Amino acid sequence: MFQADAWMEQQYRKNMEKVAQQTREQSKEQRRRDLTDVMRKLIGEIETGELPAPVITERVSCPGYTRERVILSAAEGLEFGAYILIPDNCSEKALPAVLAIHGHGYGSREIAGMLPDGTADESPPGIHQHFAVQLVRRGVIVIAPDVVGFGERRLRSDTEKNPEAASSCYRMAVQLMMLGKTLTGLRIAELRKAVDYIVSRPEVDSAKIGVMGFSGGGLLAYTAAVLDERLKAIVLTGYTNTYKDSILAVQHCLCNYTPGMLTYAELPEWIGLLCPRPLFLESGLHDFIFPEAGFRKAEAEIQHIYNQAGASERLTVDLFPGGHEISGRKSYDWLCQQLRK
Ligand SMILES: [Zn+2]
Repeated sequence: MFQADAWMEQQYRKNMEKVAQQTREQSKEQRRRDLTDVMRKLIGEIETGELPAPVITERVSCPGYTRERVILSAAEGLEFGAYILIPDNCSEKALPAVLAIHGHGYGSREIAGMLPDGTADESPPGIHQHFAVQLVRRGVIVIAPDVVGFGERRLRSDTEKNPEAASSCYRMAVQLMMLGKTLTGLRIAELRKAVDYIVSRPEVDSAKIGVMGFSGGGLLAYTAAVLDERLKAIVLTGYTNTYKDSILAVQHCLCNYTPGMLTYAELPEWIGLLCPRPLFLESGLHDFIFPEAGFRKAEAEIQHIYNQAGASERLTVDLFPGGHEISGRKSYDWLCQQLRK
């Protein structure tokens, strides 16, 4: 047989048998610790070096909230912007905060109600649903960093060739992989810096930080939360699945792939490391890149992990009628409620 279909299937099956054997040989606690350490290693470490202090460059009054722009850095020689949305009338006490992570698109402005040039986006929102604005309108502070590789954080060498280039994921991911690092590792280092910053703000209750990420931002949200216990409640939208049914079945951006992850666990077990923290999984019934069948398998496995830990009520699921997009019909309120407890 010349075609490798059956051989590839066998490779996956044999790998999963090995994973099952590893699981049987370890205690649950040991496995959780090992997987967390492995994740840190596989995504690669980014050297920090000398970092400049945060600088606020903009403060704008918007309907119901104030929007600030802060410039941060997690790696010497590389800065990033983040929007901070602060609800009006928040001077009385410290408020919960949410780290809001966008997926593929033009960056944080896409979730903070703006067009790429920073002007207000008055048209109906796209798949990101201006979700940072939806959250601040529910009374929580939001920090929305610009994920590297998108919008104004695309490589100049990409935008000079094509100003409409969708992202710089490919060139950044391949170089970092060849250096034994990953684009996820760099993105996570910056997101953790964003968390450092938001907990330092006097308006924020540092014990009440949540995270919400969509699509590629879902990958970043769960990874950041596994590695950073300051993130107390998590919403993953348009991401939860099995590797086999999503990134191994459909052509996805290279930034979704971390070499070696599958040799330790399938995606639901990685996401299950968030147990027993409150977790909300949202997915569209007609999301064809993170398909329903894979979502249902992942949901069942993650539910099993929560059940075994006696934390079944801390997992909430919403499979909504829609595609690869945010719904928010239950997840926004759920997240705000979790952080107000
Ligand atoms: Zn990408």
